[in-house]
Amino acid sequence: MPELPEVETIRRQLTERIPGRRLDRLDVADPLITAPELPEALAARIMGQVIERVDRRGKYLLLRLDEGDTLALHLRMTGRLHWRPGTPADGEERFLRALFTLDDGSTLTFGDQRRFGRMWVVPAGTDERAYWRGRVGIEPLAAGFTTDHLARVLTGRRVGIKAALLNQALVAGIGNMYADEALFRAGIHPEESAGEVDRARIKRLHRGIRDTLRTAIREGGASIDTYRDGLGNQGQMQEQLRVHRHRDDPCPTCGTTIVKTTVAQRGTYWCPRCQPRP
Ligand SMILES: [Zn+2]
Repeated sequence: MPELPEVETIRRQLTERIPGRRLDRLDVADPLITAPELPEALAARIMGQVIERVDRRGKYLLLRLDEGDTLALHLRMTGRLHWRPGTPADGEERFLRALFTLDDGSTLTFGDQRRFGRMWVVPAGTDERAYWRGRVGIEPLAAGFTTDHLARVLTGRRVGIKAALLNQALVAGIGNMYADEALFRAGIHPEESAGEVDRARIKRLHRGIRDTLRTAIREGGASIDTYRDGLGNQGQMQEQLRVHRHRDDPCPTCGTTIVKTTVAQRGTYWCPRCQPRP
């Protein structure tokens, strides 16, 4: 599932290619992709607008358009965005849901095997701070994300620390894979109560989150499942994962066998020695 580093990788690639281009045409193969809005209504609103900028908020990709509207795209489980200099050949994009044609003939396809991915318009004039509040928390790579901030959002929380990290309203963009990696780096058991993690380990967790996400961006994201970047290529971060998807492998730090258990309804990988139960 694409998390912050994967979406950021796509954002950077699109930023080099689509700003200044006009949205000329939208072909929707699966109307679910714009639900609950009809594809025709979405197209009528944004066709003809020029893409000014590509932003990201958490796992959401945001195309800023010149009339002030924003096209938000959420890849969810298996969504893929793929830019090509021309039109894809028939069948080239399996699971094609929507195809944008830009005014230079280049295309952006939204493919999605599981069909959970969505796109919608955030209309011009929307107060975005209010719009995202309660839905997406602080960006973990932003300057404002400090150890203090992380300590504050965890204070008093009785849910497990992994569940807290997966809560997008607390910290944006961290999913199952990078939560496992950050907790391993911090030496914190995934089920420890979020509010009980002491200051020294919150500091390690803060660093673990940032190091993991930055490494993942540098590696172009992780292609452990269906993820491909904005040009259809695999990322390399899967080679750098220390515990996630490493059940029964030796811990890279201590050699203990890595285990997989279910935490927060998600398959969770951790080292019993480096991340002892409190
Ligand atoms: Zn270990």
